[in-house]
Amino acid sequence: MSTDQRAAPTWGADYIRTISPYVGGRPVADVAREVGIAEHEIVKLASNENPLGMSPKARLAAIDALLDATRYPDNDGYDLRHALAARLGVPAAWIVLGHGSSDILEMAARAVLAEGDACVYSQYGFLVYALAVQQAGARHVVVPAHDYGHDLPAMAAAIDASTRLVYVANPNNPTGTLASREAVEAFLHAVPEHVVVVLDEAYVEYLPEALRTDGMALLRRHPNLIVSRTFSKAYGLAGLRIGYAAAQPALAETLNRVRSAFNTSTVAQVAALAALDDAEFLRRTIDINDAGMGQLVAAFGELGIFHLRSHGNFILARMGDDEHAGARVNAALLRQGVIARPVGNYGLGAWLRISVGTSDENARCIAALRQALARA
Ligand SMILES: *Cc1c(COP(=O)(O)O)cnc(C)c1O
Repeated sequence: MSTDQRAAPTWGADYIRTISPYVGGRPVADVAREVGIAEHEIVKLASNENPLGMSPKARLAAIDALLDATRYPDNDGYDLRHALAARLGVPAAWIVLGHGSSDILEMAARAVLAEGDACVYSQYGFLVYALAVQQAGARHVVVPAHDYGHDLPAMAAAIDASTRLVYVANPNNPTGTLASREAVEAFLHAVPEHVVVVLDEAYVEYLPEALRTDGMALLRRHPNLIVSRTFSKAYGLAGLRIGYAAAQPALAETLNRVRSAFNTSTVAQVAALAALDDAEFLRRTIDINDAGMGQLVAAFGELGIFHLRSHGNFILARMGDDEHAGARVNAALLRQGVIARPVGNYGLGAWLRISVGTSDENARCIAALRQALARA
């Protein structure tokens, strides 16, 4: 019998064997070890986390919950679901909690995709969509992007009788592009009712009111719509893994059928509840992001770095003309203790995605970029 650990796995269906597992941003400790820089000197701008950390209120609530984690969490997440419902102006039965919103994205796939069904999403769409589709043994229908953003009319046109699910990220990660309210409304209008649409609003908190699509009003008109959101980004709770979906009750119930038992911890639930109430922290988060985005954009202008206008807490910037420019500059940044996010796995090998940090972190990143590009 072979003991070769590198042999291709022989378990699972073909569509499972061919999955490339999700690759996240490099952990700080990992990079610190590799380049010999102290952990506190490392600047991580790789995973769109909140540079302010977490809300102090959420931290206290989480610590308090940790003092006794004997009991299973409330599998219904009663308090958090009711608080979210009150905030969003929908009934609590419309809210489903997820272990991060990635969990929601996967639940949607598990709930509605059978082997051979089709799922439509955009080129440069968030990678978790492709993984969720593949786990279900479903077919990927990847619609070419328009100017790096979702081509919603083409996505609607790509829907056929075998389509069961569509993912739309707005704003999208990694491109930061935003579809207008009108475009999203026209799209939903064009999608037949047998197709579930997941509107992934992981970055909605960063949008000024005037640019927001009113997801909750859309939910009332579209029984096939799921709006997913997360506490990982603006609320600063990425490490606790909590997000949610809002949908009409029939669809919310369908998600609940495939939801893992106790998928969100007590610590995550109470921290999210407290974070939801910390308007001041959210305000500071938006302010520091606006300022940091301005700082990065100004520096890119000065350094001649082409970038896309972003509506999130990150920015996609082109590091050169060849397919390896992103990886090359990324390596140079790592040597200087700056972790950015290569996006070659999105077919964007020339680019890097850089999260917006504090002004000091952004300055470190800009200095490292200046040096990396001067050498190139
Ligand atoms: C970060 C992100 C998510 C969700 O992350 P979770 O931590 O799982 O909540 C979902 N969609 C997009 C587009 C994202 O960038």
